[in-house]
Amino acid sequence: MDESGGSSDIEYTNIDAAADAIDCSTIFHLVTDIVGFILFMHQQIPSLLQDITLEFDGLRSEFKELEIELAESEPKAPLIRRKLAARKREVKLGIRRLEKLMGCISNLKAALQLLVAEVPNIDKISLVLGPSPLRPLHIFELNFSNGRPFLEGFSRSKTTETLSRKAIRMMISKGIGSDSYPGPTKLFLLVKAPSYLNLPLHFLPKREFRPNRKTKPFRLRFRCRTQNPEMNPQHNDFASSVKLQHSPSTDLICNETAFFSLFAAAEFTNVVRVFIELESKEFRKSKRRHLSEKPAPAKSSDGAKMKFQIEDITVYFPYDNIYPEQYSYMLELKRALDAKGHCLLEMPTGTGKTIALLSLITSYVLAKPSNPVKLLYCTRTVHEMEKTLAELRFLHDFQVKELGPSARILALGLSSRKNLCVNPRVVSAENRDSVDAACRKLTASWVRETAIENPNVPKCDFFESYEKAASDAVLPPGVYTLQDLRAFGKQKGWCPYFLARRMVQFANVVVYSYQYLLDPKVAGIISKEMQRETVVVFDEAHNIDNVCIEALSVNVRTQTLDGASRNLSRMSQEIERLDLNLNFLSLFLHKSFGIIPPVRRLKATDAGRLRAEYNRLVDGLAQRGDLPTGNTWLANPALPDDILKEAVPGNIRRAEHFLSVLRRFVQYLKGRMQTENVEKEGPVTFVASINSQVGIDQKMLKFCYDRLHSLMLTLEITDTDEFLHIQTICDLATLVGTYTRGFSIIIEPFDERMPHIPDPVLQLCCHDASLAIKPVFERFQSVVITSGTLSPIDLYPRLLNFNPVVSRSFTISLTRDCICPMVLTRGSDQLPVSTKYDLRSDPGVEKNYGKLLLEMASVVPDGIVCFFVSYSYMDGIVNSWHESGILKEIMKHKLVFIETHDVVETTLALDNYRRACDSGRGAVFFSVARGKVAEGIDFDRHYGRLVIMFGIPFQYTLSRILLARLEYLRETFQIKEGDFLTFDALRQAAQCVGRVIRSKADYGMMIFADKRYSRHDKRSKLPSWILSHLRDAHLNLSTDMAVHIAREFLRKMAQPYDKSGAMGKRTLLSQEDLEKMVNGVEEMVF
Ligand code: SF4
Repeated sequence: MDESGGSSDIEYTNIDAAADAIDCSTIFHLVTDIVGFILFMHQQIPSLLQDITLEFDGLRSEFKELEIELAESEPKAPLIRRKLAARKREVKLGIRRLEKLMGCISNLKAALQLLVAEVPNIDKISLVLGPSPLRPLHIFELNFSNGRPFLEGFSRSKTTETLSRKAIRMMISKGIGSDSYPGPTKLFLLVKAPSYLNLPLHFLPKREFRPNRKTKPFRLRFRCRTQNPEMNPQHNDFASSVKLQHSPSTDLICNETAFFSLFAAAEFTNVVRVFIELESKEFRKSKRRHLSEKPAPAKSSDGAKMKFQIEDITVYFPYDNIYPEQYSYMLELKRALDAKGHCLLEMPTGTGKTIALLSLITSYVLAKPSNPVKLLYCTRTVHEMEKTLAELRFLHDFQVKELGPSARILALGLSSRKNLCVNPRVVSAENRDSVDAACRKLTASWVRETAIENPNVPKCDFFESYEKAASDAVLPPGVYTLQDLRAFGKQKGWCPYFLARRMVQFANVVVYSYQYLLDPKVAGIISKEMQRETVVVFDEAHNIDNVCIEALSVNVRTQTLDGASRNLSRMSQEIERLDLNLNFLSLFLHKSFGIIPPVRRLKATDAGRLRAEYNRLVDGLAQRGDLPTGNTWLANPALPDDILKEAVPGNIRRAEHFLSVLRRFVQYLKGRMQTENVEKEGPVTFVASINSQVGIDQKMLKFCYDRLHSLMLTLEITDTDEFLHIQTICDLATLVGTYTRGFSIIIEPFDERMPHIPDPVLQLCCHDASLAIKPVFERFQSVVITSGTLSPIDLYPRLLNFNPVVSRSFTISLTRDCICPMVLTRGSDQLPVSTKYDLRSDPGVEKNYGKLLLEMASVVPDGIVCFFVSYSYMDGIVNSWHESGILKEIMKHKLVFIETHDVVETTLALDNYRRACDSGRGAVFFSVARGKVAEGIDFDRHYGRLVIMFGIPFQYTLSRILLARLEYLRETFQIKEGDFLTFDALRQAAQCVGRVIRSKADYGMMIFADKRYSRHDKRSKLPSWILSHLRDAHLNLSTDMAVHIAREFLRKMAQPYDKSGAMGKRTLLSQEDLEKMVNGVEEMVF
């Protein structure tokens, strides 16, 4: 081995091999070993690359042991169980992390194997450590001779072992990996390859390698026995050697020049790259420490240090620092609580809205325990629910540590049986309705009665134990996620769903979905007993008006009517069977034994039930009393409380009469849907028409839903999922019978996209969002509506018809300008771009949009997300890009994935999109505004560096439902059509572009690609946190200008920065900073 230097401008570290040639297999193993060494030295893996599986296997076996221990630990104390569960979660995290790293390494190895097999004359490989190859922190160069033999297989030889050992020893002696670097980075493997090489998924697009000139490459040269060691090192780049050298800084420019001339001379203008994403040393260390520690009780609040005053309230905040906007948010929230009023608060995602909200409200309750007494926190998805509860647990631990056991609360999440059931036979049913029905089959009172006599009738043991425990079945104080509830239920043998439902009344904090408060059918069962002194929070509430409207809208199709007819026939048969039973039993007992059957027995088994039901209905629905737990069903969709005191109309009290009424109603609907023209009318004329044609009056309609519920209980029907059709019909009947305004009935004989295929639909459309939310505003003293996108904030009070006491919009404090919104008005040919009706299908616009994406795909790394205004527009434009070849060009840079109507397909596409981003190949995701992806999927970090909003996502303005709603809004709330449409479109656009920024450490660009965004009336409806970053210079861009800005922005973001904001912009305040700021509170900007 010879370590030469100074003989030329470039210095090398030579390693001589005792062989005539270095074959492909040796190169592969050498590179892999060096990669393993670099990863190890930067603390990314616990041991040598080969041994990484040991840690993985160790974690997996620990996970299994913990699972067994948890399953067997019923008698153990809850504290031990909690510890075990916490440890299990940590181990699971460790497994996932290691799995990801192993996946990356195996990708890299696969890529390398493929390359050395495809391009045997590889002469140079570079390992680049840094955020990107253009901004390397370290470069390690490896050079190989041309024309080396490729032997079958990749087995390790003795030469490989020796060379590898020598190389690693040399690297250690040079101090490789002994330094640190800030933040997450990547390890890139760059291979000089011919441009014809076909790239598989493992590789990033081929590009020229142009590292910045500040980084010193470290060159290592392997020489075989036949190599002339005196060769000119510059020419040795093409000879049989591998070099790794640390050049002196004075040689930098020369070195880089040599590097480029190397590619030019070899006529290989492309570099193939793969990479492994690394974590910073400190982060890695802290994670490993965390994983290796056994869980300790109540340790989670370690490091949670903030305790400060907001007026008369001591706020407990479980972090060391707070953002200024979080503090301002708390101030406003407190004002609303003090005033016992409702509020609207807009604050961008990534600013810690949830923890600010939870801290303030729970601290407020601690300070003033009687007012408010409870927090109802509504989220849109189960995932958000679990996240909120995890934050709350963290906060709760801190509060208990500070205040002792007096601060203990009960907080739980509530969801459907599908998410809470622990009975394996039931929970495996395919959807929510089936799970509900399967549960009813085991828990309905009559089923359980039969099971007492006949042990073969199946029951749910969890429900039986829960019922047996009666009032002893309680949840001890603590914070319970859905997962915790299931675990607790399994441990105790109690049904977690019914337990959680009961504990809702006693809990201090309940986290559940919007429907539990906004859908009267669900709210009537779950949330009817809540105290007035409750704070209700609707998080991510930008679409709350649509949720309200959907809760009160019903669609009826031909299939619904056919299904309803079948349901009615089945109910008739049941009634006949009961009558027969009665007659047969009476006759038999009387004739054989001369006795009259006992009344109690008759009530339990046959038509006595119908008679009892009739008597009860005479007294009104309120006389029904509390139903057994297992019999509860959905509540009335619109029933006001006082109606419970009314008697059910005489003509629907008898079951046969009621069924006859429903049959006539179904028949009437069938007749109405046979129309050939679109029809629209209000509830009053609709009800009048029903009355005149089939003799059903408004009162009968109003009672339909509850009457059906009562009859199904009487008939002991448990398979409620089979009766969804008739439920829909009764839902419709009750709504039209209850509301006289705020609704339209629209009958459309066919889908407008396929006018030749009859597909009639009758829609009961609610236009007034305030109807569903009105009871919430009336019943609870404070309702908080919050989201990252509520602009223009003054429209929500009008839409929801309430008066907020506080209405504020906050911006985001940033240490660097990591958000880059742009308005693109012109394409590369300077012609305007827009999805306006007259320009939408213009080939020029389509081409310009395609060019924009193509240009961006070539400069933006990793993931790009594109949002289109509708599915049909996306289909059309993607088709046109395909025909013009633009799509093919885009795919040279990144893989393309598309959202479809099918949820499973979209999930798969998203999964592959993420994999393509993870592997470094980069990807583009085509999505649709208002779709599932636009609402609930985050494209943070490298999953989304750019989002392009193609056009303005206005609703389909010819939709009859929309027109009817616009008319209603104009007449009732004096909201102009244009204002509402623009507000709605811009909030959707803001939602879409907001997907790429999910935290302050993230960065991303947003392109609003439509000339209409440059108009002030449109643009001004965007949230202030976007507008504050939208510079005037970025308002009227063409494609080339946007590309230039993108390059600049990405370059800026690649620079290291101080996250704490010590450079002048402070965004993290310590307790001390906060106190100083509070003393000068009048100067606060936020
Ligand atoms: S009672 Fe509970 S555990 Fe049993 S089937 Fe119903 S939801 Fe599942």
